Amino acid sequence: MQPRYWVRAFVNIINCSTLLGLIAAAVGRARLTRGHHGLIIGWGYRFRIPPRRTPAFTLGNIILVRHEGPEILQRRPRLLVHEERHSTQYAYCLGVAMVLLYVLASAWSLLRTGDPASRNIFERLAGLADGGYTEHPVRPLFRRSRAVRSPAEVTAAPEATAVPEATAAPGAAAATEGPPAADRLPDALPPTVLP
Ligand SMILES: [Zn+2]
Repeated sequence: MQPRYWVRAFVNIINCSTLLGLIAAAVGRARLTRGHHGLIIGWGYRFRIPPRRTPAFTLGNIILVRHEGPEILQRRPRLLVHEERHSTQYAYCLGVAMVLLYVLASAWSLLRTGDPASRNIFERLAGLADGGYTEHPVRPLFRRSRAVRSPAEVTAAPEATAVPEATAAPGAAAATEGPPAADRLPDALPPTVLP
């Protein structure tokens, strides 16, 4: 084994992330086998955290996989490559502290894209495609206020196509919205209602 893998294994023992992985493996009743580059793979992880749609995750030098055996690697040959990069990230990010950083990165990605991985720096560095993720587009943080919409946009908006008040059923507006506010009265009343 190359020295860098020894160093990674040693650092992840010191920073307690591998210990956390072993505890998770025990809780999830995973079957541990020796992997490549000093990693340990726990097959058949069963605990409900993280969500079951996550096929594998890594804590220190421990890669935990929900599938019972390596058959999944025929469909996802890059899965362990992706997870090994997470193992290296633990060595760089103070071990257990990375769990918190990862959660924050997931929340940021969820806010920007609606997906916890697309803009998660840890998943991007580990390789989105290798991890089985598809990249979601970034969406604006804030919607534009209705007050600043142009008249053209207001006309095109779906609510603008609703039945006009004048043709709606009598009392319908009052029943749903209360009495009309002064600022919503028409500018010119019909001649029949003038004194
Ligand atoms: Zn990942």
